[in-house]
Amino acid sequence: MKFSDMPYSRVDIDALRASYAALTEKVKDAASAQDVADAVMEHEKLSGHAYTMFSLAHCRHTIDTRDEYYVAENDFCDETSPLLDEMMQQFLVSLVSSPYRTELEKRFGALLFVNIEMQLKCFDPAIVPQLQEENRLVSDYEKLVAGAQIEFDGKTLNLAQLSPYKESADREVRRGAYYAEGNYYMSVGDKLDELYDSLIRVRTDIAHKLGYKSFTEVAYLRLTRNSYGPADVERFRKQVVDEVVPIDKMLKKLQGERIGISDMKMYDDPFCFREGNPKPQGTSDEILAAGRRMYTEMSPQTAEFIDFMYKNELLDVLAKPGKAVGGYCTEFREFGAPFIFSNFNGTSGDVDVLTHEAGHAYEAYKTMGFEIAENSQPTMESCEVHSMSMEFFAWKWLDLFYGDETARAKFRHLEDALIFIPYGTMVDHFQHIMYDKPELTPAQRHETWAKLEKTYRPYMDFEEIPFYSAGRGWQRQHHIYSFPFYYIDYCLAQTVALMFWALSQNDYKDAWERYNKLVDCGGTKRFTELCAVAGLKSPFEEGCLRSTCETARSWLSHNA
Ligand code: ZN
Repeated sequence: MKFSDMPYSRVDIDALRASYAALTEKVKDAASAQDVADAVMEHEKLSGHAYTMFSLAHCRHTIDTRDEYYVAENDFCDETSPLLDEMMQQFLVSLVSSPYRTELEKRFGALLFVNIEMQLKCFDPAIVPQLQEENRLVSDYEKLVAGAQIEFDGKTLNLAQLSPYKESADREVRRGAYYAEGNYYMSVGDKLDELYDSLIRVRTDIAHKLGYKSFTEVAYLRLTRNSYGPADVERFRKQVVDEVVPIDKMLKKLQGERIGISDMKMYDDPFCFREGNPKPQGTSDEILAAGRRMYTEMSPQTAEFIDFMYKNELLDVLAKPGKAVGGYCTEFREFGAPFIFSNFNGTSGDVDVLTHEAGHAYEAYKTMGFEIAENSQPTMESCEVHSMSMEFFAWKWLDLFYGDETARAKFRHLEDALIFIPYGTMVDHFQHIMYDKPELTPAQRHETWAKLEKTYRPYMDFEEIPFYSAGRGWQRQHHIYSFPFYYIDYCLAQTVALMFWALSQNDYKDAWERYNKLVDCGGTKRFTELCAVAGLKSPFEEGCLRSTCETARSWLSHNA
């Protein structure tokens, strides 16, 4: 069904409440496993419809924010979706405590029940006031940062508008942009300290009310981390410091030589090539057409997928008046369709939409037929494996997007991956320390960050840049405030994506088949099991990073 033909109607929340109450009773009074299974399928239908309507309202609202009908519908859905979660809560409790659980596990998989239990463990009606407080603080942070107004280049800019200046070919412009950005963050530094302090306090309070020692445990439950814990992540960190950081030091030295700067500073960091950073060539329509050609040639499965996406208007990526900013991938389960939203702007970000977001959509497309929605998507780090690996599988076709800048685009992509892993790991390490020691003062938090910088990015020279040189750089990392502990996911996924990249350098077909095995499991397996399905080591295993990094290092030195 085409996107424009998908029917929308407002979800009847009272009817849903009654249905879920009845379903919960049905599970409690069930006389057989089949009765419970029937209730599960009924729940799939109800939630599938409701979430499809929520997605549809949201998508149509973001496509044209001036459309008043969908402004109202989107507001309605924002208010309603937490209510639906609450209604489902009792149903899920009855499900995991069903006496027929063993038989149900045979039909739906045991992991489903493990995941539901984890979700139930991080919620209690008693913490609702704290959850509301947490949401309020997060949106205060987001509002504060979104409202930034920076005088630069004779204009008043927000943070996103300032960002191209940070990659300018003119060193003085880059330097100026970093100082301007640093000055802005310093001007709201006290507020940023205060917000984080309150977040740490309220999250620690949530943990204590739920009976946990620290918020870290709650965060791992919230993210349904069903196959690794903090000790595994700590082992991964050690590999990052031992294997990746030394390569990054070498890469930064090479970068300095490449751009002709012997005293590399922080403001030289994003400037990769003397010729400027690679940009896609051609119009938005040409980029879109190149994407279609790439997936058509990649494999029969991707050809079928991309044909479905284009035919059914499931990519809305061109910039239009009234469109919301940003990009995302979502799905309309009831209509069996993924959906990609973006605003093409002529940067390499446009290509990322067609490689990264389409990687997410490809998995959604392939698992759409699963009996229950809960089994179609794995945990976050595994979802990022789908997308980040697809970025590397797209290498064979990058010339369609970058023309004579393809070699530089590949170099930058691989280099970025290796530079990102230590940074992302540092963001995670920092949060572990913060929630282990909630009593730290703002000054001690900045000191901690400055110390971590020396471990994870020892090459970085902050000069006297305000904010950054004071160990406050973590405050511009949105996730630290808004999505606690959701960051190592990107590092784990990037590690797996690099393994697929290394394999694809030797035998593309074999790497592609392994990737599809992983994708086809959807959410029926844990992250570490998914790695095993693809015949890969898990990132927590000793030596996992060593050989992959060595392949990447050697590729980069040959192609420098
Ligand atoms: Zn993603």
